[in-house]
Amino acid sequence: MKRIYLFKQKITLDHYVAEAYTVRCVDDRFWKTFKNFLREQNITHVDPKSPAGGVKVFASPNRESDREYNLDELAISIKLHHVKKVMLFSHSDCGAYGGLKKFNGNKDKELRFHLKEHEKAKEVVGKRFPGLKIETYFIDEEGVIKTS
Ligand SMILES: [Zn+2]
Repeated sequence: MKRIYLFKQKITLDHYVAEAYTVRCVDDRFWKTFKNFLREQNITHVDPKSPAGGVKVFASPNRESDREYNLDELAISIKLHHVKKVMLFSHSDCGAYGGLKKFNGNKDKELRFHLKEHEKAKEVVGKRFPGLKIETYFIDEEGVIKTS
């Protein structure tokens, strides 16, 4: 069958090992920081997910089925791409968490809240995948903070 390409780019179908499975919020404001951070960490092959709220899908999902779905997605990456490390992100002024206004503009209060979310998310993922290395990060307008 003839294929008419709108865009051409050669890629290889070789399989790969994902150095990390990343979960970050869909918010585009933090995309560049996230991308540059991974590059700086020399992480080039990732299985990236970007659900609204990032860690929220594990810590406090809108629906329990969101959590299950995302744990199943991770299971697939572990199976197919041999994921050993998960990097969970959340960020400042996240709309999925009600934004910075939910914390009356208090950034410390916001960060403390996110630290608890990170703990919860880590517990949820760790319970399902005990052998996995889980790291958590917070992104604000200055950069990336490792929280665990
Ligand atoms: Zn967000």
